[in-house]
Amino acid sequence: MSRQRKSSAFDIASQIRHGEVSCEEHISEILENIQQQEPTFHAYIRIVEDSLDAARKIDQRVKRGEKLGKLCGLGVAIKDNISTKGIQTTCASRMLLDYVPPYDATVVERIRKEDGIILGKTNMDEFGMGSTTEFSFFGPTKNPLDPTLVAGGSSGGSAAAVSLFEADLALGSDTGGSVRCPASFCSIVGLKPTYGRVSRYGLISYASSLEQIGQLGRTAEDCALLLDSIAGYDTMDSTSLRAETKDNLSRPSNDLDGVRIGVIKEFMDGTVEPVSKAINDAIGIMESLGATSQEVSLPSLRFALSSYYIIAMSEASSNLARYDGLRYGHESGFTDDDWQRFFSKNRAYGFGSEVKKRLIIGTFVLIAGYYERFYLKAQQARSQVRNDFIQQFKNFDVLVGPTMPLLPFRLGEKLTDPLALYMCDIDTVPANLAGIPSISVPVSAGTPIGLQILGPILGEEKIISVARIYEEATR
Ligand code: GLN
Repeated sequence: MSRQRKSSAFDIASQIRHGEVSCEEHISEILENIQQQEPTFHAYIRIVEDSLDAARKIDQRVKRGEKLGKLCGLGVAIKDNISTKGIQTTCASRMLLDYVPPYDATVVERIRKEDGIILGKTNMDEFGMGSTTEFSFFGPTKNPLDPTLVAGGSSGGSAAAVSLFEADLALGSDTGGSVRCPASFCSIVGLKPTYGRVSRYGLISYASSLEQIGQLGRTAEDCALLLDSIAGYDTMDSTSLRAETKDNLSRPSNDLDGVRIGVIKEFMDGTVEPVSKAINDAIGIMESLGATSQEVSLPSLRFALSSYYIIAMSEASSNLARYDGLRYGHESGFTDDDWQRFFSKNRAYGFGSEVKKRLIIGTFVLIAGYYERFYLKAQQARSQVRNDFIQQFKNFDVLVGPTMPLLPFRLGEKLTDPLALYMCDIDTVPANLAGIPSISVPVSAGTPIGLQILGPILGEEKIISVARIYEEATR
């Protein structure tokens, strides 16, 4: 068995830092995994070419006794909607096929500064719109546990890469569950931080008020390592928080003594049996570690999914208006004397059908006469969701439930039923509406089931430590 399959990213970084493992060897191993498995799973859209050179440079610096950063020699995969200087960034859309960003996103810059090595750009649903990675211009990513199943989405490539040891860590974006859903379906850990915790500068927007760049790793500690490397205020993102960055890596205590857990009733209702059973078993383990648990109802959650989709599609219709083939987007070679026709030809050619559908709905719900009926109502429901969470975090340290209400399904199975596909997000969108942090941790060996742990605004430390204590007790 290879070294990676025994060690966490955290341990590998420390071994490289102390010269116990050569970074070149480590990165070569990852590249071999990529070569062998990519034809089956398709986690990446693009592999960068200079990762071995970067690895050799790390080894030289270790030899010279230089002090290296937190991500010392780790291979990091980046979702293809996060800008990488000089490396194509497509959002898995034909619209951006030949877009090469002239700058790095803040998160990418920080990964490089902490001596992480960028391995490549991962597959996703076009512009982040989807929950299975089937809506990619490049074709779907397959589930690492069974390639006939979906990997989840929209950050399916990032989750699969980490699960398949084709990366130590990965970045995704989570607008309504896109980090936690594929983490759950691929049996790894996925973290969506508090809105504003991580800079969105250089993230190509889908729905700006909902999304955060999230971390994917094989352990909660690995996600904390990546979060701590990239979090913090950024002058380039006006929504980034001036909050103190905490050290999420300090060792948590060994038990959950005194931790008050609220089990979200609305999340448990409507969850298929093998999932709800595994979640209840996990809660039982947490109780045996000293926590107390109680069922709790958040009545506003019944509005969460519909308000999420109204807000997300509205924001998308505005954010994606810039792709017209003139200002931004693929130059498809059409000519027309009429500007409207020229734009619509480019947009019809560049966008896939799921994106088009959402842009049309998003534009429709914002039409003056309908504004109050849809958008305003959705915003009101969003406030209620946020208030319900604030209220409950007075009584509980963390809230829990399943990440996904069902197990990963067959590729293509839900493509003919868009509403069924949207319904899969029912338990992940509330955290985005409320802006609170949430982590998904695998709880069943062999079956891809994620326990979702939600915390109050800026409560990353709390949910990460609960996840780590659970993880260590069950390893
Ligand atoms: N599945 C949700 C959507 O399609 C969430 C996507 C995301 O988080 N980017 O909008």
